[in-house]
Amino acid sequence: MKTYDAIVIGGGPGGYPCAIKLGQLGLKVACVEMDKPGGACLNWGCIPSKALIYASGQYEKTKGAATIGVKCTGIELDVPAMQAWKDGIVTRLNTGIRQLLKGAGVDYFEGVARLTGKGTVEVTGAGGELTSLLSMKGIVLATGASTIEIPSFKFDGHQIVGAKEGLSLRAVPKRLLVIGGGVIGLELGTVYQKLGSALFIAEALPTLLTGHDQDAVKLVERKLLKHGAKIFKKARAVGYEKSADGSLKVTLDHDGKTVTLDVDAILVAVGMRPNTKGLGLEQAGVIVDGRGFIVTDLRGETNVKGIYAVGDVSGPPLLAHKASREGEIVAEVIAGHNAAKDWVAMPASTFTDPEISSVGISEEDAKAKGLDVKVGKFPFAALGKAMAIRETDGFVKVIADAKTTQILGVHIVGPEASSLISEAALAIEMAGFIEDVTLTIHPHPTLSEALMEAAAHAIGKAIHIPNR
Ligand code: NAD
Repeated sequence: MKTYDAIVIGGGPGGYPCAIKLGQLGLKVACVEMDKPGGACLNWGCIPSKALIYASGQYEKTKGAATIGVKCTGIELDVPAMQAWKDGIVTRLNTGIRQLLKGAGVDYFEGVARLTGKGTVEVTGAGGELTSLLSMKGIVLATGASTIEIPSFKFDGHQIVGAKEGLSLRAVPKRLLVIGGGVIGLELGTVYQKLGSALFIAEALPTLLTGHDQDAVKLVERKLLKHGAKIFKKARAVGYEKSADGSLKVTLDHDGKTVTLDVDAILVAVGMRPNTKGLGLEQAGVIVDGRGFIVTDLRGETNVKGIYAVGDVSGPPLLAHKASREGEIVAEVIAGHNAAKDWVAMPASTFTDPEISSVGISEEDAKAKGLDVKVGKFPFAALGKAMAIRETDGFVKVIADAKTTQILGVHIVGPEASSLISEAALAIEMAGFIEDVTLTIHPHPTLSEALMEAAAHAIGKAIHIPNR
């Protein structure tokens, strides 16, 4: 039995920062991971998808570069080379995480961990060998979440795939059906559309990207349609049959009507479920909610003293940055610090084309809650920098309390929305007012001026668009 102060189960964006922080705080730490370090985010999520989003965007931009006087001929796609480049990034980061853990003095174990008793964890290695670990101060469950499979569309690894395999297709499908018009469906659907697939999307709900600012979603949808996508809302994929030529004949229930589609591949992206199977939660007495997510308090502790959970396994939002922050907080709690989850702002970014990012309250929420708000909006089309980089689709929307002008929410759809949102997150975290943003001098020419102008617009002081 090896004894540690803390044991972290899972080496993803929740687990590895937690282990590093515990090490930095002087604790003796073990981190157990059954796959490669970095979790879903690094190995088959955030990072590889962003690499493919970038690569497919470059391909599309290069094809259209003649408009700006850059004539390119013989533009070709080499999908295996693109995949190899993407895989290389992942491998470099895998190695980086191992080094960071080592640098923080963390003992890294490869294997499947299971809670076995009070403070004990059993690790089964790849060859079946068992290692027993004992924790004196805390066990952190950071096991993440996995793609949900629909029974009538069982994954086969190449033609019917989830996000994981969807990121490693060796060829671009001629016709791709995405089941689920959520974050993964639209991010990956856009990649393959840009690489040449005819794209079909079947979404069960009446809107795509439900929960996002719908003004923003409309722009993304418009662009997908402009490039030929066929989008079925209120549509459920019922089943499929394999045709003689190897393609798939899919049946959709589209708002009560039957639709059939011939496609070459199907990406199922209908959400994620927590990875708790085989973890020994029941024996340990750890409570999960109705959807199977582990229930924790503000300190990240479960109902069982000394057992904590962070990241996707502890419930939505399923975001890597939320997982990492929770991991750091739990590390501080285990080290005896007075720490708790107390964030005001949790930004979220969706890497569609254009990108959508948001922080704080939405206009729809504000209306539903009957809040008296001012809304300012500034289009990227009115911004010199956006024109100079040919990225004029989109806008910044700022929602503020009508009386105090305190900023309550910011929604950005457009170029670099995912980076621009950080300034808005800072403003909300600091309980900032519209004037804090408008009085801050933003460098010209930059995309960040759009946030300043949108804030100014909310109080009738925009310079580059009419105020109402
Ligand atoms: P999601 O919840 O974003 O979208 C799933 C969609 O599938 C929903 O709109 C749902 O209505 C629809 N759906 C469910 N069953 C269906 C069916 N049978 N037929 C048709 N549509 C159906 O889930 P996701 O896209 O799988 O992503 C999983 C999680 O990962 C999300 O919580 C997301 O926030 C997170 N994620 C985040 C990012 C990011 O931050 N950029 C990127 C990828 C994933």
